Amino acid sequence: MTIKINKEKCIGCGLCSSVCEEVFEMKDDMKAHVKSQKNIPCTKEAITSCPTEAISK
Ligand code: SF4
Repeated sequence: MTIKINKEKCIGCGLCSSVCEEVFEMKDDMKAHVKSQKNIPCTKEAITSCPTEAISK
């Protein structure tokens, strides 16, 4: 399993990092980045919360 962000789809809303800061972070490019491959409950929550379905695993 690899958690990935599709940079084309990510609109930089920051939702994933607020829902699950252990796994996602926003960087200077205004895109979300995966900082840890932890598959914890909030990982799934972030995936389902993303408005553009940019996160996959
Ligand atoms: S929730 Fe989706 S669109 Fe918003 S920053 Fe995260 S990956 Fe990007």
